[in-house]
Amino acid sequence: MVPFLIVYHEGYLTPYYTSTVECPERIKAAYYKLKDRFPVIRPEPAELQDIYRIHSKAMVEGVMSEGRDVYETALLAAGGAVTASEQAISGTPALALTRPPGHHAGLQRYWGYCFFNNLAVAIAKLLAKESVARVLVLDLDLHYGDGTENIFKDNQAVTVVNIRGKTRRTYLDSLEQVLENCTSIDLIGLSAGFDTYVRDWGGILETDDYRAIGEAIRNTALRVCEGRFFAVLEGGYYLPDLGLNVLAFCEGLAGEKSESSGNLSPRMWS
Ligand SMILES: [Zn+2]
Repeated sequence: MVPFLIVYHEGYLTPYYTSTVECPERIKAAYYKLKDRFPVIRPEPAELQDIYRIHSKAMVEGVMSEGRDVYETALLAAGGAVTASEQAISGTPALALTRPPGHHAGLQRYWGYCFFNNLAVAIAKLLAKESVARVLVLDLDLHYGDGTENIFKDNQAVTVVNIRGKTRRTYLDSLEQVLENCTSIDLIGLSAGFDTYVRDWGGILETDDYRAIGEAIRNTALRVCEGRFFAVLEGGYYLPDLGLNVLAFCEGLAGEKSESSGNLSPRMWS
């Protein structure tokens, strides 16, 4: 098996309420599909100094005022992203199966079920430690990762690209173009949302597409940055198939071949 890890903590199942759709069952659904397929490691909560690197004091106080359950789970989610990114740097790509999601959390503001920007906390920490100098963030979620863009907009070290497309074809073409043009980076960070799914809000992608996307990203990372990448869960709300979609994505990221894989040309995405 190709080395690939899942970062998970049972704290992600904490039943705080933000909306009926962003619920602990999302994480449960994905975890049960993944736990026997990939090694699982347990993160520590992020340290406050890592949070303050990207969020204002007022913003952090806002999250604290949401209640202890939210605050502690959000710290644990940021810690999950940190762990996944550190694994990636030391040679094992990983997906952090975190809740709450993070890509709508910016310097001053959070919304959209997000509190701390998990992916950005992890990347800012690696930059501060000089473990990496250039990072590409790919936001694969249906929704625009405004928080991540806000945090890194003046940071030359980080390029944030939101993959857009109203149809399967345009979405996959847009991703392929970004991957083809990708050069001179040290790490790829993925905001992995699954609300693009054909039965989810986006109505765009099939389960096999997530496997192909994972594989294409893995191959790009092998080409440009010695295979260094990590993913953090964002959206994805269609519970019956969420686990299958996350599993397919991880199989692709891990380089596990499936019958339909091995061909990354646009033909397979047509
Ligand atoms: Zn979303």
